[in-house]
Amino acid sequence: MKTCNLFGSKTVLSFEVFPPKATSPENTIYQALDGLTKLNPDFISVTYGAGGGRNCEKSLQIASDVKNKYGIESIMHLPCVNLTRENALEILDKLKANHIENILALRGDITDWIAPCGDFSHANELIEFIRENGDFNILAACYPEKHPESKSLVDDIQNLKRKVDAGAGQLVTQLFLDNDYFSAFRERAAIAGISVPIEAGIMPVTNKKSIERMVSLCGINLPKKFLKTMERYENNPVALRDAGIAYAIDQIVDLTAQGVDGIHLYTMNNPYVAEKIYSAVYRLLAA
Ligand code: FAD
Repeated sequence: MKTCNLFGSKTVLSFEVFPPKATSPENTIYQALDGLTKLNPDFISVTYGAGGGRNCEKSLQIASDVKNKYGIESIMHLPCVNLTRENALEILDKLKANHIENILALRGDITDWIAPCGDFSHANELIEFIRENGDFNILAACYPEKHPESKSLVDDIQNLKRKVDAGAGQLVTQLFLDNDYFSAFRERAAIAGISVPIEAGIMPVTNKKSIERMVSLCGINLPKKFLKTMERYENNPVALRDAGIAYAIDQIVDLTAQGVDGIHLYTMNNPYVAEKIYSAVYRLLAA
């Protein structure tokens, strides 16, 4: 099923998972999926590191298992910065063979350690390529606080429009901790004529390491309320986890009240956290 067709009658709930790191046992992702799929999300998306290699096969296998073994619709992330057109065609063929109909088309982060070596410079080029080479539902990423490389909010929304015009039928945001950024972003998108569903990316911040990572990678703003909570509980991991869950629930309650199209939960492969959030909000999502 194309996940863009799920929107309209309810608030969609989706999860994001990532393949286990090379140092983790392979089965950890399946333990996570056993718990996450019990919550019956509308779909699960699977990340794919822009470095490529073995990771692609892992992401593909997990996305295929989500769809074909667990019976839940899956999305495969596809960063293009290191893909040739030939690589991309091979991956599209594998997705078709595994009945995966949804792709989150991304540029990928440009890192110091892997020089970009692909045929695509930006996500809109990959979106166009996918549209021309298959019958997929294509998703794209968006940034309520703008992408760090965009010169301005206007520049950022123009890029988003380019991706939608190229064929993206559904959007997922970068995580954010201040809902006001999301509301303002939605307004900018509407003014730019972007009318496809936009899911809000929510990441429950449950440990100190993920806060540091988040700031360095995404450049998002940390609201005072959030910082105070984190400071208060930073030496108590269980209290910090519970505060992170409560913060995410609070964000979701506010977003559903504003009529958000969907919530995309960055689960960090943690079914405990996802279950706590799910049980607090599932009635709101269905209302
Ligand atoms: P683009 O849309 O290409 O934009 C990147 C920058 O280039 C922006 O500043 C934009 O304004 C600018 N730009 C775009 N087109 C043009 C143009 N034609 N001319 C000039 N400037 C232009 N990364 C991974 O490696 N794997 C993942 O699985 C993954 N999953 C993600 C999931 C979500 C929901 C999100 C929000 C991000 C994810 N990322 C992932 C990170 C993503 O790859 C990075 O944020 C990356 O830096 C930008 O990707 P993009 O697709 O938004 O790029």
